[in-house]
Amino acid sequence: MLEGKVAVITGAGSGIGRATALKFAREGARVVAAELDERGGEGVVREVRSLGGEAVFVRTDVSEFAQVEDAVERAVGEYGTLDVMFNNAGIGHYAPLLEHEPEHYDRVVRVNQYGVYYGILAAGRKMVALKNPGLIINTASVYAFLASPGVIGYHAAKGAVKMMTQAAALELAPHGIRVVAIAPGGVDTPIIQGYKDMGLGERLARGQMRRRLQTPEQIAGAVALLATDEADAINGSVVMTDDGYAEF
Ligand code: NAD
Repeated sequence: MLEGKVAVITGAGSGIGRATALKFAREGARVVAAELDERGGEGVVREVRSLGGEAVFVRTDVSEFAQVEDAVERAVGEYGTLDVMFNNAGIGHYAPLLEHEPEHYDRVVRVNQYGVYYGILAAGRKMVALKNPGLIINTASVYAFLASPGVIGYHAAKGAVKMMTQAAALELAPHGIRVVAIAPGGVDTPIIQGYKDMGLGERLARGQMRRRLQTPEQIAGAVALLATDEADAINGSVVMTDDGYAEF
């Protein structure tokens, strides 16, 4: 599906990012795993290589623009171009609104919102310079559309990702670059496994039409579809990858 494409995947060391790195590699893409956590980043590169694929790890904190630029640069240095930028790294912080500390809000927005903005900027500039109109995919969330208690910073950031996707698609369209987002519902990854005692996973699973959490591999499948040339008509939109999330 993705033979010869070069992709940067942020947050590639775990969950959706890891599953997408493996899926992309299986489909013939070469991957830059841009990840803050060294163990996770190096681990996924080993997994890709054991499949016979090509990947490199670049330690990246997406809340630092220069580091995101470095990851993009590495794709070009290592594999000669940049076709897909998957701005996926994210964190959560769960606390009721009145107990939500400003520093937690700041960090969630720095990673989940600025991280995506930096990825759009770095990849957009590079694709224009290379005259290679590629694809930028952002990870939003069903929480960009529907409110849930305890995640005010996450809502703010994911709402921003939704609108940045549309705005960036508009401005990058003259260069032929597509910008889309996915909006997962509940996916069985460490980001929600950390809140088991609060029943976050169960609540998310109840909200999905098939009453179960999705696997990271299911989300990776959707990302791979969006990255194929067959998805060329999809631009500027957030594709719901949430199993019809409906109930709260
Ligand atoms: P995860 O915790 O398994 O993976 C997130 C990865 O991002 C981790 O490897 C982590 O080390 C990395 N990361 C964290 N901060 C970083 C930073 N500053 N720079 C670079 N990497 C960083 O969680 P996941 O569920 O795979 O999350 C991936 C994305 O999906 C996030 O944007 C998340 O908000 C979004 N999402 C997840 C769910 C869900 O239910 N799991 C639902 C909707 C949206």
